[in-house]
Amino acid sequence: MRNRRRGSRAHRSRARVESAAETVLRSQSRISIAAISAVLLIVLSVMVGYNVWATTRTQSIPALVDLTARQRTFAERYVKDVVLQVEGQKADPDQSMDLLRATAATLLSGGPVEQVGSDVPIIVPEARGANLRQKLAAIKGLIGDLNAAGDDLLATPTWSSTFSSKLLHLRVLGALVSSSTADASSELSRDAEGRLKGLVEIEIFLGLLGASTALTMGLVLRHSATRQSALFRSLVRGSTDMIFLTAREGRVRYASPALLTVLGRPPSTMLGRSLDDIIDTRRSDNTAKWFRGTPPPDGPLQPLTVVFIHQDGSLRDIELDATARFTDRNIRGMVINARDVTERRRADDQLRATLARTHAIVETAAEGILTINDRGRIESFNRAAELIFGYNSSEVIGQPAALLFADLAAAPSLGEGGSRAAQGTWEGGCARHDGSSFHAEMAISSVQLGQRITHTAIIRDTSERDALQQRLTHQALHDQLTGLANRTQLLERVAHGLMRADRDDALVAVLFLDLDRFKVVNDGLGHNAGDQLLIETARRLKELSRSADTVARLGGDEFVILYESLADVSDAVHIARRILELVSEPYGLDEGEAFVSASVGIAFASVGDSPDNLLRKADVAMYRAKEAGRNRYEIFDHEMQAWADKRLAVENALRYAIDRDELRIHYQPTVDVRTGEIRGSEALVRWQRGDELVGPEEFIEIAEDTGLINTIGGWVLGQACRDTAAWQARHPDAEPLQVAVNLSGRQLAQPDFVGSVAAELALSGIEPSSVIFEVTESVLLANTEAALLTLGRLKALGVRIAIDDFGTGYSSLSYLRRFPVDLVKIDRSFVEQLGTDGQSATIVEAIIGLAHALDLAVVAEGVETAEHLAALSTLGCDLAQGFYFRAAIPKDEFEEFLDAELSRTP
Ligand code: C2E
Ligand code: CA
Ligand code: CA
Repeated sequence: MRNRRRGSRAHRSRARVESAAETVLRSQSRISIAAISAVLLIVLSVMVGYNVWATTRTQSIPALVDLTARQRTFAERYVKDVVLQVEGQKADPDQSMDLLRATAATLLSGGPVEQVGSDVPIIVPEARGANLRQKLAAIKGLIGDLNAAGDDLLATPTWSSTFSSKLLHLRVLGALVSSSTADASSELSRDAEGRLKGLVEIEIFLGLLGASTALTMGLVLRHSATRQSALFRSLVRGSTDMIFLTAREGRVRYASPALLTVLGRPPSTMLGRSLDDIIDTRRSDNTAKWFRGTPPPDGPLQPLTVVFIHQDGSLRDIELDATARFTDRNIRGMVINARDVTERRRADDQLRATLARTHAIVETAAEGILTINDRGRIESFNRAAELIFGYNSSEVIGQPAALLFADLAAAPSLGEGGSRAAQGTWEGGCARHDGSSFHAEMAISSVQLGQRITHTAIIRDTSERDALQQRLTHQALHDQLTGLANRTQLLERVAHGLMRADRDDALVAVLFLDLDRFKVVNDGLGHNAGDQLLIETARRLKELSRSADTVARLGGDEFVILYESLADVSDAVHIARRILELVSEPYGLDEGEAFVSASVGIAFASVGDSPDNLLRKADVAMYRAKEAGRNRYEIFDHEMQAWADKRLAVENALRYAIDRDELRIHYQPTVDVRTGEIRGSEALVRWQRGDELVGPEEFIEIAEDTGLINTIGGWVLGQACRDTAAWQARHPDAEPLQVAVNLSGRQLAQPDFVGSVAAELALSGIEPSSVIFEVTESVLLANTEAALLTLGRLKALGVRIAIDDFGTGYSSLSYLRRFPVDLVKIDRSFVEQLGTDGQSATIVEAIIGLAHALDLAVVAEGVETAEHLAALSTLGCDLAQGFYFRAAIPKDEFEEFLDAELSRTP
């Protein structure tokens, strides 16, 4: 296509040059051309006219010969006819005589003579020359004598004596006519030949005249040609194309000035040289050699592109086309048109590179990419499309795109019936080669190139993604372990149930269930056993609640059963009882038999309840069931509502407690049992809520439930460290005071808890060894691995760890070994029995013995009396804390207490 365009361009420009030249030529030499033409025309018409005339003359010679021959014949025929008539036979001597007379007249005076085999008579010229005319006149006379002799003989009877002499006379006269005619005939021929000679002479003259006219005309034309070539030269000079004239062997005869601008070479430097000299032949190996003057192939010269070397050494792509200069059938050389196409080539190369890149992208794309023409036929089909559809591209190219769709009615219209495809996306069923179908997503775009529209479709097989989506959706709505509904789905269903309750006045109930001793199984028998137990519980609940609308697991050992339309309140109670029975049945686990129980809370929907609200009510009722001794159910009532309301109020107020600076720390001293010296304190948080000072028992749990404990705990740690650091500075001579800070499990589970502790320690400037973190057994048990890890990292900071409330949990003394513990804090329930209950003393003794064996210090809390202290002293307890020494007191008071105590010591 490019060649054609280029060719036609070259042709157009040549045509322009020619027509321009013609115009100039015409205007400048119009007069001389006209004059020459007129002269030439006259000369030609004279020549032609003469020629026609002379030709008829020339043709009359054979006619004359023929005419004289006829005269002899007619004379002899007349004699014969007369004799025949005499003998009585049929003959016409008069007609012969008429012919003889006419012939003689024509010979003398000229005139038309009929020719044998031609309609056109020949004009015999009048006889010229006196001698000839005399001879012809004499013949005429003889013919008259002949006629008279014939008539005389016919009038004479045969038997008469004069008959034979008269017959002889007739015959003599006939012979005379005949011989005279032969004589005149040669005379006539000579005359005609003479005339012919004249004709040739005239012809020669006219020829010379024509030639000189032609010569003159040639001179005139040459003059205008000179002008014309000047015009061409100026056109050539002004052209941005380089123009070369080459001789036969390829030597440059002429190079246009554009050579300097295009290749930096003065045209004169090329004269006599070959274009080869300035061509990079290595890069132009494909060149047909025509520009070197070798004979061109048949047909037009194909334009070709050659790499020329610029004067400065750079390379330029030059496109050549040429016209051969012929003389007759030999080539004299060429006119070569050459133009710089470097930029165009570069653009072409870039386009090609872009196309190659695009092709590579399309072929390596993960999405199927195909193009479809405006007749709905597939034009291209990439590798990914082959994989998706199971076709080879060669099998589908040229085929209707329809074969790729599972349902033609739902397929996008791609070019069929010339329709413009909907730009955008399509989603639906596609068909593979093997006939199977799959769900796909398609992005379709259409490009119009001229009259043609090409549709590009990018296809993605979404079946895998859809399956994943389905799994995710299932996961999003289901509990992984048991397959029951999860909280999200439960809330949806509860919302649905509440709507029904409003509309149909249905009785909607939520049963909240928490296993009572699940932790024991989980910790004692392992997670696997715990999982089995939960799965089995789920199974039992499902079986029981077949009529239920939803059975869900909220996580941990919490389950919820939703009933969207119960007949009666007593139904819920009945179900709750059945649940307690079912859960109490033994669980046969791989690890052995296990027994658990459940606490169930029941809540009925009332007007205005939100799903969250209803669930919370059931949760509260369950909580109360647990408080009331477990393995039982409670129905949410107004008293619980009041309790829940209060709890909610606390929760809301607590959120602002830190910001409003309502938190306080009370410090309770820790005393050395042997010396009675003060060793430090335990930081115990208080909440100054208006006039009321609220104790931790009333808000720590709520803070833990809501996550506020993280903020509160952080504040307590920072404050306690700063206070203690200040006291240490105040009493530099005393042994550094320690401070014990309580940690809840939730704090330990914080992502960067250790980092935040390090920050608080650094901020206060306290020695890490002065800080003790108190953690309860239950916290350690709830989250063994993670807790172990965090405690290890805390210890690495240099702080110490104490086990709080030791003895109240599921006291497995083994974790004294497993955890990086420094102190054991004996729960006050054991301490308060000391002196009255022998068993407590044994337990305390055992704890102290074990702790010491493990190199751990022992702290006794709840020391209220001198007996307590005495007993602990006897048992070898290290530290003590309790009302006997001092209750937890505000910071200022504690400071005074410290001053008094430490100044008392020597
Ligand atoms: P705990 O860690 O066992 O703290 C000791 C509790 O026993 C304190 O109650 C203290 O006032 C009380 N006590 C001290 N000596 C005696 C005594 O001789 N007889 C009796 N009957 N009680 C005594 P408090 O301050 O009400 O703290 C209760 C619980 O609150 C603490 O128990 C601790 O578990 C928690 N707690 C306190 N402050 C914080 C805190 O900042 N963070 C965390 N996570 N929990 C805290
Ligand atoms: Ca404590
Ligand atoms: Ca305690």
